[in-house]
Order: sequence, then C-alpha cells, then structure tokens
Amino acid sequence: MSSSIENKVNSLKSAIEDYNYQYYVLDAPTVPDAEYDRLMKELIELETTYPELISKDSPTQKVGGKLDSTFQPIIHLTPMLSLDNVFSSDDFLAFDKRLKNRLERDEKIEFTCEPKLDGLAISIVYRNGILEFAATRGDGKVGEDVTHNIRTIASIPLKLRGNFPSLLDVRGEVFMPKSAFEKINKDALEKGEKVFANPRNAAAGSLRQLDPSIAAKRQLAVYFYSIGSAESVELPNNHYQRLMQLKSWGLPICPEIKVAADESECLSYYQRILQNREGLPYEIDGVVYKVNSVEQQQLLGYVAKAPRWAIAHKFPAQEELTKLIAVDFQVGRTGAITPVARLEPVFVGGVTVSNATLHNMDEIDRLGVQVGDTVIIRRAGDVIPQIVSVIENKRPANALKIEIPTVCPVCSSDVERETDQAIYRCSGGLVCDAQKKQSIKHYASRKAMDIEGLGDKLVDILCDEKLVDTVVDIYRLPRESLIKLERMAEKSADNVLAAIEKSKSTTLPKFIYALGIREVGEVTATNLANKLLTIEAIANASQADLEAIKDIGEVVAHHIVSFFSNEYNKNVINELISVGVHWPEIEVLSESEQPLLGQTWVITGTLSQMSRNEAKQQLMKLGAKVSGSVSSKTHTLLAGESAGSKLTKANDLGIKVIDEEAFIQLLPSF
Ligand code: NAD
Repeated sequence: MSSSIENKVNSLKSAIEDYNYQYYVLDAPTVPDAEYDRLMKELIELETTYPELISKDSPTQKVGGKLDSTFQPIIHLTPMLSLDNVFSSDDFLAFDKRLKNRLERDEKIEFTCEPKLDGLAISIVYRNGILEFAATRGDGKVGEDVTHNIRTIASIPLKLRGNFPSLLDVRGEVFMPKSAFEKINKDALEKGEKVFANPRNAAAGSLRQLDPSIAAKRQLAVYFYSIGSAESVELPNNHYQRLMQLKSWGLPICPEIKVAADESECLSYYQRILQNREGLPYEIDGVVYKVNSVEQQQLLGYVAKAPRWAIAHKFPAQEELTKLIAVDFQVGRTGAITPVARLEPVFVGGVTVSNATLHNMDEIDRLGVQVGDTVIIRRAGDVIPQIVSVIENKRPANALKIEIPTVCPVCSSDVERETDQAIYRCSGGLVCDAQKKQSIKHYASRKAMDIEGLGDKLVDILCDEKLVDTVVDIYRLPRESLIKLERMAEKSADNVLAAIEKSKSTTLPKFIYALGIREVGEVTATNLANKLLTIEAIANASQADLEAIKDIGEVVAHHIVSFFSNEYNKNVINELISVGVHWPEIEVLSESEQPLLGQTWVITGTLSQMSRNEAKQQLMKLGAKVSGSVSSKTHTLLAGESAGSKLTKANDLGIKVIDEEAFIQLLPSF
C-alpha cells in the first residue's frame, strides 16, 4: 500500500472530524450532508480495501462527535447507536437479502417503517414513572445532560401513565417543527442575528443550551422510536407493538409509522412518504426500516456503531455544493432589479439546477457571496432553488465582489435605490423594454385578461418585431403580420386572435389586476372593485378613500393614486375601453350574501366541473380569502381528485375538508 493512500485516509479522517465537531458540538455545519456522506463513503471504501488502516479513532468506528464539556456527562444504560444508510432501492433490496441469508430463511421479513426525523437523538430515563434525567446521544456511550431543557418540551410527560415499568430508558428524536423553525429564523433575520442552517441544527442548538428558558421558547417536539431498557415489565415481542406500548404510557409516537409485510411494501412506504414530505409539519431526511420481530433482531445483532436489523433509506439530497459562475441582473415588471445566480449545474432535490434566486442586494451582503465561490444550494419541493451559504475557505484568489449595476442592463436608464428598502429599480418605466414586456405578459396572463396562446415567448417576439408597444396594440394586431411570424401558422394566428377578442369581455377585478399597479394583487383588485364599483371611482379615489378599504394600507394606496394620476396610464385605460374591453356592472352584495366573509380557503387537487381559478372567483365572491398554502389559519380545504400533501397537512391540523360536490352545494347559482 502506498503512502499516498495512507495520506488520503488521514486527510479524510481529519476533514470528517472537523465536520463532526462543527455539526455535533457547534450545531453549525459548514458543508451539506451529501458532501459529508460522500467523504464517509470514500473512507469506508478505502478501509474495506485496506483493513490495516482501520484505527479505533476512525470516524467510521465511532458514533457522533466529541462531547461538549459544558454539560454534565451521563453514561447511557445501554449504548445509543447510529444507523447504516442506503441511498437506493437496489441497495435496500441487497440489505434485505443479506438479512435473509443471515437468518437462513427464505420467507419475507416484516419491517416497521418510520420516517427518519431530522433532529437529534435523546435518551430519557423514567424511574417509577417519573422523568429522572435526559441525555443526548453524545459519543454513543456517554451523553450530555440536558434534563433541564427536556423538561420544557410540552409533549414530553414528566410522569408516565398506566402500567409503566419501574425503570424505562426510552429513545426518541427531538426536533423542531417546520413552522417553529421558520419563525425563529424570521425573528433572527429581523434582529440581524445568525440564522440556523436547518431545523436539525436549530433543534440541537436549542436543546444544548444551559439556560432552559431558551429551549422553552423554541417549541421543540419529540417522537419516541425505541426502548433502551425496561425493568419489571413484560415487553411485546415485536417492535411495532412496543411502540404502541410506549404510546399507552403517554409517550408521543410518530403517526406515520406503519408495518410492512415485506421489502416491496417498504419501498411503497418510501415512495408515499417521499411524496408527502413537503406536507409533513416536520423535516425528515429519509425513512427507517426496522426488522419487526424482536427475536430476529436479537439473532441479527449489531456492527460497530449500528444495529444490523435496521437501515435508513435516505431521500435524495436537498442541499448540494456547487460554484457560483456569474450573477445576472433581471428587470421585473415594476422595474425591480433582481440578481440571479448562474451556477455550475448540480443535481439537487431530484433535478439539475443551474440558476438560483439571490432576491436582492441585502441578501448578497448577508450571504457574503462572491462570483467564483463554492456555495451550498438548497432545493426543497417546488420551492425555487436558494443559496444557503458560502464555503469561505474555498474562495479562489480571483473571486469577484458582486456590484449592483449603475444603469439598467436592458435600457441603460439610471438604477435607483428605494429609500429604506433593499430594492433597486430601473428608472426607465415603460421606456424600458424589460418592463414593457413584463407588463404585457402580466396583462395577458391567466389570472389577468387570460389571453390563451399569448404566452411569454410570443410577447417577446411581438415586442421585438415592434408589432406591440403597449397593451392596447394587442387589440390592433393585423392578422397578416401575425401569420408571418416564426412558428405561427394560419390556424394558430386565428386562435390567438380569437382569444384576444374573447378577452375583451372581462370583469372589473381582473381588469384592475391586469393593469399591473404595484402591489395590487388579485385580492386587492377584488376589494377595490367591490367597494368602489367602477373604474372611474377607483381612478378618482383619494389616498384616504383607498386606505379605508380592507387590506389597503398607506403604501398600496399611494401606488394606486400615483398610477391613476399618470397621464400615460389614463390614456391606456381609455384606449382599452375604446377598443372594446368591457365588464359587467358589479353586483353589490350585502354581508349576508357573503357567507364566507372572514374565512380563508385553500384549493387543491383536480376539480372536474370547474377550473381551480373559477372556484377561486366563486369563493372570493362569497367573501372568502383564497390562500395557496394550508396553515392553522385555514378555515376549509376544498380538495379535488388526487389531492396530495395539502390534504395530508389539513388532516394533520384537523382542518375542515370538503370535496367538489359539497362545494357546489354551497354555491347559490351553479
Ligand atoms: P444518522 O442521522 O444518519 O442516523 C442515526 C440517527 O437517526 C439516530 O441517532 C437518530 O437520531 C435518528 N433517527 C431519526 N429518526 C429515527 C427513527 N425513526 N429511528 C431511529 N433513529 C432515528 O446518523 P448519525 O450518526 O446521527 O449522523 C450521521 C449523519 O449526520 C450523516 O450521514 C450526515 O448526513 C449528518 N452529518 C453531517 C455533517 C455535516 O457536516 N454536514 C456532519 C456530521 C454528520
């Protein structure tokens, strides 16, 4: 064996030790788990090929990291181990096969399937039913005494119920629910404090505090998943029933735990949990399969740092390392200039990502990111990829600071910074091609004038060919010019023209929304229309009239007044009306005709008798607010066919759910 292999092993060990220290002791990892797992895999492979290089102090032989001397040590009654991992179905099937070989049986193995909660492991000892002490996993043999903090977690009983054992050492995961995590990071950002990298570190950082009032404020939660030891009680002989036993003693158990009759049911469980992952109120990073029979568990036994009878099947990584190659500046409909990160393509969250939003210059300052930096990129669910942090010690010598351009990258007008805000804007208004194009795209969009076929690409072409300069020009498009455009046949041109004609018949809220007044979304547009009834009244309303309307504050009222005091905008509105854009008069509904006033609804799944947008309009007419996500503030969820994570979340939160049929019954004239 060459010394270069020995050097490689040593450098892997030392990098992993550093990462362990940052993760387990400081609760502040500097690299994504995927990178850590890659290094660990490389080390395991080298140690397998060269077993003479395995030392007792190798991170492959140990659980967790070093102990923090700030806490009293507690020796575990039985060791707290880690779990082995697989990252693919094939590797899990190979694991199942290995178990069958070891057990010398061909029959199916029954497993308990559990979400792999992303928090930190805890051991709690109850003596005669009373919580005596609680310890972190530490190095597996000795943990840190965090009893004072564990006592502040509302769902952990201080006293067991029922027929409990004289001594119980129960193990579980302390975690921070997503809602609590979002709140503490939002508060930290507002106060200019450091944010936590993820809910796992937030939970660990909260639990490993000397002052219990900090943990008490952090809304931690726990689910228990195994028994370390129990005295003077006959325990059931399978894992699932043991969990039910824990539940009967008053200890919370994750509601998603299921028994799988064999390996293929395990894989279906994995898929189901992966699909519902975003809807779960807590973060998970995979699922855990545990051999259900305790007798089989005992036959299988343990390896150095994990049981042989359990395996974690990890989900694809949501965080990865990549490089920031460049930053482009995009100009939005209202001139706001947004920095966009161009990245070296990287596979993360199940897709290849090459762009990420950087929001604004304040975000760039907060991250301290420069072009050329190695960054951690996060993509969770359908959320736009984000840069989470920068690996500063990987910064190249030629890294470049990111500066906001002084002139608009599209029209060269001056760029101005809004007082007291992080936003920079192009001062060009509709002189700026980017703003012009965006405002036309917005006007034609589905929630606005809904002109089918007039999508982003066609708008770009129409503007570039100088066929359209304002939204009014859409209604004056000559058929012959349209047909001549690239990839536009007679039929498609006629379809677009028909959709343009159809869009002339609209509603006042949609028209107001389509005008693209700053910060006037669908809800504000509907409130304006319902309160002031005509476009003339809205155009002539004073700042005070507008502020008297629900949901309209000083800033929005100011945007509305300044929009309508602009001659250019007034002309556009008059011309739109003269080319035939019209809407029916607003029906004035009394409060009693708005039975859903004050309620927030969410729509999910596929509806068969109307589009989701139509359902939304109907709900708004009846007074309801329609939101895109389920929270404790949701009044009712309207769930169509194949509803997914939103339905799960609504059920978890005990929110009323109705189907399409029941919804239609509610509508006065459907
Ligand atoms: P692990 O987190 O992969 O698995 C073991 C742990 O899973 C248990 O100790 C327990 O806390 C937890 N768990 C959650 N749900 C469970 C359930 N239902 N049943 C049993 N256990 C459950 O292993 P580990 O040894 O704690 O940590 C290793 C992992 O931590 C790495 O794979 C890496 O992802 C991460 N890590 C990252 C860094 C970094 O710098 N980014 C550093 C160290 C570790």
